[in-house]
Amino acid sequence: MLPKLYIVIPCYNEEEVLPITAPEFLEELESLKNDNLISPDSKIMFVNDGSKDKTWEIIKDLSKQNEAYTGVCLSRNRGHQNALLGGLMEAKELADITISIDCDGQDDIKAMTQMVKEYHNGCEVVYGVRSKRETDTFMKRFTAESFYKLLNAMGAEVVFNHADYRLVSSKVLNEFANFKEVNIFLRGMFPLVGFKSTSVFYERHERIAGESHYPLKKMLALAFDGITSLSIKPIRMITGFGVIVSLLSFIMIIYSVIGYFLGNTVEGWASTSSIICFLSGVQLISLGVIGEYIGKIYLETKARPRFIISERTFDKED
Ligand code: UDP
Ligand code: MG
Repeated sequence: MLPKLYIVIPCYNEEEVLPITAPEFLEELESLKNDNLISPDSKIMFVNDGSKDKTWEIIKDLSKQNEAYTGVCLSRNRGHQNALLGGLMEAKELADITISIDCDGQDDIKAMTQMVKEYHNGCEVVYGVRSKRETDTFMKRFTAESFYKLLNAMGAEVVFNHADYRLVSSKVLNEFANFKEVNIFLRGMFPLVGFKSTSVFYERHERIAGESHYPLKKMLALAFDGITSLSIKPIRMITGFGVIVSLLSFIMIIYSVIGYFLGNTVEGWASTSSIICFLSGVQLISLGVIGEYIGKIYLETKARPRFIISERTFDKED
């Protein structure tokens, strides 16, 4: 039997982009159907992430025009990761496979064919990986690539140059649903679920319209979240660094005691104050990093819902 596919697309303030890309997604869906790769009742699911513009109205209109379009609406803006998770959790009940993709047309829609073929070859997770970033500005490319390097160096293992363009079967999503954490970083979490996986390469295009919602500040925040949600390496590094600093201080103490007895101590204001400054800096940074983890624990213990769906374009059968 052919698998039923749901293409899950988070959208936040995308009224300019959606009318252009929605038909492109539909076209790809039709071509997958015509190639007998997916079942005829496969659909596209938009997730409106609390947009402040007409995005949800556009999604509702689309769903009236063609039953291949469906949509869910979050009760407020929860950010890309939560919106995507909301869509995937919704789709896992309805579909056999899901493909998540951004709605701005930057990721090559055509790569879906290859992804579905890999599913037919037995892979449960297929990562879309950007082979080139020529159309990105130098700054975007540099920050994005440093982002992956930083994540890996800090022990958050992610597939290099893979964002959230990915095929996941509902079998994997059902297991993924047991990952109850509130701080989510999907691209780092799917590798943890396991199952047979592979990568499909594609070229990344420019955004069709509108602006990126990931300026440098948000990207840094995402990298920091990714690291602190997936790895405790920074805390270990602090411990290691603490050991080194303590060793050095110990040597310093011996050196100064010997100096004192030999009678060649000088007024040590400069060295003392610089050591104090250095150490208080190190301590503050370390406290900050540890605080970040404690903050995460705090959020996890509250276990608040990660998303709330307020509206659907379809009836949910319970
Ligand atoms: N997005 C979202 N909620 C947000 C921010 C972004 O659902 O709070 C969606 C957005 O509509 C897009 C995707 O996430 O489909 C990726 O955002 P964007 O294209 O701005 O990021 P970039 O591709 O520049 O990293
Ligand atoms: Mg984009």
